[in-house]
Parts: sequence; structure tokens; C-alpha cells
Amino acid sequence: MQQTLILLKPSAIERGLVGEILSRLEKKGLLIVGMKMIQLSDELIEAHYAHLVNKSFFPILKEAMQKTPVIAMCVKGKEAVRLVREMAGATNGRNATPGTIRGDYSISAMKNLIHASDSLTNAQIEIQRFFTPNELFNYQTVMATALYAFDELN
Ligand code: UDP
Ligand code: MG
Repeated sequence: MQQTLILLKPSAIERGLVGEILSRLEKKGLLIVGMKMIQLSDELIEAHYAHLVNKSFFPILKEAMQKTPVIAMCVKGKEAVRLVREMAGATNGRNATPGTIRGDYSISAMKNLIHASDSLTNAQIEIQRFFTPNELFNYQTVMATALYAFDELN
């Protein structure tokens, strides 16, 4: 099973879409292994969006990411990194396919509701950036046997 990092951005919190997005992730079969609300510091945003710090829009992005707290989540599932990226949809909500979270609820390139790790390597780095080991829980539910075939449970 893979683990991936999700942030529900201020754009999701302000619009009251936390429950809707969470519900989609749960219904897909992803297991929440960590979840907390945090106010992002300058340092955390600069590390998380290091690939964007030199972009002209970075100051606006930083302000948008600090407008409210965010909800950080670590979810687990088979091929979870790719699945959550696909469920999030293309970066720009106007280009995102209907049926994706951004495609259904965002009309903006910046206010696109959700962050999802883009590779297994980055997922591991990002989970460690946002969570301490004791904030992540290793548990099983009976649902696992309903969600997966026996030979998929690893
Ligand atoms: N972003 C933006 N304008 C752009 C590209 C990115 O405002 O032209 C913002 C947007 O909120 C995006 C975040 O910066 O989600 C991180 O950009 P990235 O290219 O990593 O996209 P993502 O992985 O979130 O799809
Ligand atoms: Mg990205």
C-alpha cells in the first residue's frame, strides 16, 4: 500500500468543501492514517512549494495558502499516489476534467482546493514534512476485505 499527502487548501475551507472532498476520498476506499488542521508558516510553504518560489505568482500563492488554516491528511491505499492525483485533476480548475475534484468545484488555477503529492518519492518527503511519526496511525479496518481482493492486500 502507498501513502500520500493531501492538503485541503484555504479555498476548500472557505467554500465549505471539506466534507465533500473528504467524502470522495473515503468513498474511493482510501484510509485516513493522519489528519490535522494547521496554519502554514512561511518556512513550510517555501519548502512545500520550493519549485515555485521564483515564480511571479509566488507571493499571491503564499498569501492564498495562509488565508485560513489548511487540513493536512495522509491517506493510504493501493496506488494511492496516482489515484489521488487523478481524483484531484489538472492544476488549473478550468482545465480539469469534470468528475475530478478540481474539475467539479474549481474555476481557478490557484484556488484549486487540494494539494496531492505527485510521486511516491515526493509523497514520502511531504508526509514527513507535515506529520511527526506519532501523528500517523497504523490500523486495519474490516472494510479492507470489502475493498480489496485477497491478493491485492499488501
Ligand atoms: N499555481 C498557480 N499558478 C500556476 C501554477 C500553480 O497558482 O500557474 C498554484 C496552484 O495552487 C497549484 C500550486 O501552485 O496547485 C502548485 O503548483 P504545481 O505546479 O505543483 O501544481 P499541482 O501539483 O498542485 O497540480
Ligand atoms: Mg505540485
